[in-house]
Amino acid sequence: MLLVDAHLDLAMNALEWNRDLRKPVQAIRQREAALNDKPDRGKGTVSLPELRKGEIGLVVATQIARYVAPGSPLNGWNSPEQAWAQTQGQLAWYRAMEAAGEMVQITNVAELDAHMSLWSDKTRANEDKPVGYILSLEGADSLIDLSYLETAYAYGLRAVGPAHYGDGRYAPGTGMSGPLKPAGKELLREMDRLNMILDVTHLTDEGFREALDIFQGPVWASHHNCRALVSHQRQLTDDQIRELIRRDAVIGGVFDAWMLHNLWERGVSDPRATGVRLAHVVDHFDHICDLAGNAHHIAIGSDLDGGYGTEQSPYDLDDITGLQRLTDILADRGYSEADIERIFHGNWLRFLRKNLPA
Ligand SMILES: [Zn+2]
Repeated sequence: MLLVDAHLDLAMNALEWNRDLRKPVQAIRQREAALNDKPDRGKGTVSLPELRKGEIGLVVATQIARYVAPGSPLNGWNSPEQAWAQTQGQLAWYRAMEAAGEMVQITNVAELDAHMSLWSDKTRANEDKPVGYILSLEGADSLIDLSYLETAYAYGLRAVGPAHYGDGRYAPGTGMSGPLKPAGKELLREMDRLNMILDVTHLTDEGFREALDIFQGPVWASHHNCRALVSHQRQLTDDQIRELIRRDAVIGGVFDAWMLHNLWERGVSDPRATGVRLAHVVDHFDHICDLAGNAHHIAIGSDLDGGYGTEQSPYDLDDITGLQRLTDILADRGYSEADIERIFHGNWLRFLRKNLPA
């Protein structure tokens, strides 16, 4: 079944992990077999051939580059200008994938409809179809000032998450508390003016509340699970989920193991020993459906290869094609065929048709 994945750091993997994503996952793993500079070397799960094989015809793909102040424990760039340049390198990679026929950028509803009719054309093999991508910025640090947002909109950026990890220039992110920065409030007003999508993932609780007060446009939580099930500030509270439902948002279930299991210790736990499996994300789907009274607000934002690989993913997923097994898991849990279609693609497509420019 056609699957839309609303959060993949494809260009980050291409540039910072030096992965040629045109190659199959197995080939990328083999090339990394002797490397140990990152914990997920040889354990990647995402590449363009696997996206096609897994019927993942449309993704939200990120630009991502953090600014870090002196003394920050996080990895990042020492100036916003360097972070901006990194995102422009990432854009250049997406453009090169377009030129190679591997990907196609989707910036409006007409392009979305054309792309979706290509992917529903059964006379053409999926291997011959480009993977569509909507460009999103994860963490806004790289926007040197607000004028850069309009520049980014012009090259196709359609969604922004103001925060990521740590003390962002526009908003504090995961692991922090406290309100938006003054620049973050201005950023939200400028996003409103440009009719962009707000991604609330990684905001603090205070930032979440402020952002939804200030920003009047479309909102999604691209890769986000439930705090009621797995307790961490990174996850959505029930009140936040209710507010997102009220705004007709869609929440993408994320497959990073530590967001699926309360006992997960990052860098220590093992997926098989801990028992983290695909079905755990359905617990989060069930919870959101209970709050919504329907299955109109859940979908997939896998975040696979978002700085981790199989060592921090469900043990019953070897690569991203394994997401297709969710059809059976959802059916076993009582989801109707219509609801499974909503989760796989219908909810994201409804949101995008309503909120992208015509
Ligand atoms: Zn993220």
